[in-house]
Amino acid sequence: MSLATMRTGRIATSKAQSIGSSAFSSRASRRRGLCVRATTDAAEPDAAVIDKNLELMRHFSEQYAQRTGTYFCVDKSVTAVVIQGLAEHKASLGAPLCPCRHYDDKAAEAANGFWNCPCVPMRERKECHCMLFLTEDNDFAGREQEITHEEVIDGIKHMM
Ligand code: SF4
Repeated sequence: MSLATMRTGRIATSKAQSIGSSAFSSRASRRRGLCVRATTDAAEPDAAVIDKNLELMRHFSEQYAQRTGTYFCVDKSVTAVVIQGLAEHKASLGAPLCPCRHYDDKAAEAANGFWNCPCVPMRERKECHCMLFLTEDNDFAGREQEITHEEVIDGIKHMM
């Protein structure tokens, strides 16, 4: 199945919510009234472009987790679909806009940069409401900072 047909965000969100609503809609998130819902309804990018960006964002996620001492979710299908959402946004918008939020104007948000991954809350406070980067004390944090290409593909398929 082409990755272009594997729409991300809505799946990622529902999965993450089922894993841990307390973690996913964190207190901080609720305070800010964040809408944790992935949206990837921008212009449809080519499947090959998405695949290339999928690998870019997979690699970025590994590097960033290692650099910040954060970990992927114990359920790597969550990690996979967030990476997919980032890849789709990078392909369609030119920037890895966070896939777990609703935007009235995605292009404007991408240009603004606040929610481009790693977003400002992550950079400043290690807060990732997508559950891509989890601190060690998070109940849903696994022990891994690596995810293979195959794990990403399997994780995405698992969510279909
Ligand atoms: S670090 Fe921020 S932009 Fe990146 S996935 Fe997490 S919440 Fe979204």
